Amino acid sequence: MSERFVTTYSMWSLFRNCRKACEWRYVNELVPLKSEHCLSFGSLIHECLEKWHRKRDLAMVLDHIDRSLSGRSSDECQKADWHLARAMMTGYASTYPVEDFDVVFLEKTFEGKIVNPATDSPSRSFVLAGKVDGIVCVNGKFYLLEHKTASQMDGDYLEKLWGDFQVCLYAYYVEQVFGIRIAGIIYNILVKARLQQSKGETEAEFEVRRADLIAKSKTGRTSATRKMPESDADFQARLAAKYAEPGMFHRETLYISRDQFDTLRTDLWELTQQFLDCRRRRVFYQNTSYCFFYHRPCPYFALCRSNGSSNVIENFYEHKAAHEELREEPVEVEDIPVF
Ligand code: SF4
Repeated sequence: MSERFVTTYSMWSLFRNCRKACEWRYVNELVPLKSEHCLSFGSLIHECLEKWHRKRDLAMVLDHIDRSLSGRSSDECQKADWHLARAMMTGYASTYPVEDFDVVFLEKTFEGKIVNPATDSPSRSFVLAGKVDGIVCVNGKFYLLEHKTASQMDGDYLEKLWGDFQVCLYAYYVEQVFGIRIAGIIYNILVKARLQQSKGETEAEFEVRRADLIAKSKTGRTSATRKMPESDADFQARLAAKYAEPGMFHRETLYISRDQFDTLRTDLWELTQQFLDCRRRRVFYQNTSYCFFYHRPCPYFALCRSNGSSNVIENFYEHKAAHEELREEPVEVEDIPVF
């Protein structure tokens, strides 16, 4: 890795959205003690997809899910993720028994120069690094494979892919660093089923419901029985039926125009200049309109509200080096794809 400050798409994206958040994460290297649940589910599915596309061994993928969520017997959240991940990957394996692409690389990291578009000189301060989910080949042309887990997929969702700055940027860097011309991006979308395992009802809840039914009944009687908790097997069967429905898996191919690369280079350079200015003046201003952007508080809300109190840092945050996502997992020799 370079001695220049390593940056990633995530960092620049955060810098664009709120400079203060970028400072908390990438300058002060702070992260909240509790990791965000939806991010960890997405990471697990990414790991599963990598394993699946390397060996196409569903048993191995399911075993990885079992081991990753080993606390599921006592943790409701892990249990729900375990059901969903198993059903999603089982459905994925039967939806794509064969692929119309050849895998070239999986989870490939890169690091490249950030270049001043006016002079073509590389930045002396920054480089850009990242990791692509995959590079695949279809009929002699190369595409980035980008996995997405989505809560729902509709026309709006697909429309928004057009503005996916990250993947376009990655395509540009893959071309620069590996010399592979990227024709487009294959979005591999997996939809999260919204089903929940029924908990059944307690004796007391049943009695309330029963009394209500009797009160409404003309005969003064009811044949209602207590709803029992749904078994794991029944819930898995319900999830499997859901994942057999159309629309739970989708592949969308977008083609890249070379003009997009020029815009990206210009935008990225501009961001580096603004970052240098913030760092020089030690001013990373807050964008308070971003604090609840995802309908929940920003992970640094407690810090901003307390004006960076050391007490809050000590109790709710930990120091973690930036760009952990770039660490490459060791790949066993027999895991390397054949092409
Ligand atoms: S809480 Fe608001 S101002 Fe503070 S870092 Fe987060 S988005 Fe920025």
